[in-house]
Amino acid sequence: QSNFNQKIDYVFKVVLIGDSAVGKSQLLSRFARNEFSLDSKATIGVEFQTKTLNIDQKAIKAQIWDTAGQERYRAVTSAYYRGAVGAMLVYDMTKRQSFDHIARWLEELRGHADKNIVIMLIGNKSDLGSLRVVPTEDAKEFAQMENLFFMETSALEATNVEAAFNTILTEIYRVIS
Ligand code: GDP
Ligand code: MG
Repeated sequence: QSNFNQKIDYVFKVVLIGDSAVGKSQLLSRFARNEFSLDSKATIGVEFQTKTLNIDQKAIKAQIWDTAGQERYRAVTSAYYRGAVGAMLVYDMTKRQSFDHIARWLEELRGHADKNIVIMLIGNKSDLGSLRVVPTEDAKEFAQMENLFFMETSALEATNVEAAFNTILTEIYRVIS
């Protein structure tokens, strides 16, 4: 990265949550490094990646946290959520269960996180069109009810990945500044 000597105005911690195998790690590697892997290993150890971008002429360092493969309910520790100003709740639109679990993830998030946290619901794997089982309308309705931003993405095809991160980071900036 060419961030050497760059003045950083803000650091925003954003956490990725959602069931295992929905594509959290691939969304992160697509956003941070523009890379994708079809046989990605389950994430080992809590880790984050950073990317610096400009919003409103401010240098924003996005620090995006990925789970330690601890996607079982209540396995994600409170340290993971600490200081987060944004959260992406990810489901796989080809796996109904991963969408049904979103309510639980949201409950857990709201139990741990700051009340002003910006939350975005992400329906990933939009490239698998014919395998879709979660209709856009269902997710949209849930997002509206719960006051979440919503987008459908494909980490594989790089569809809406940058847009999703830009949207959440811009909204965080709006809330904070
Ligand atoms: P995580 O457990 O939520 O971190 O999920 P991963 O990022 O490890 O992805 C799980 C599997 O789904 C891997 O085989 C990925 O290659 C695949 N995957 C992730 N995102 C996409 C996507 O947008 N489209 C397709 N077709 N596969 C994806
Ligand atoms: Mg992972």
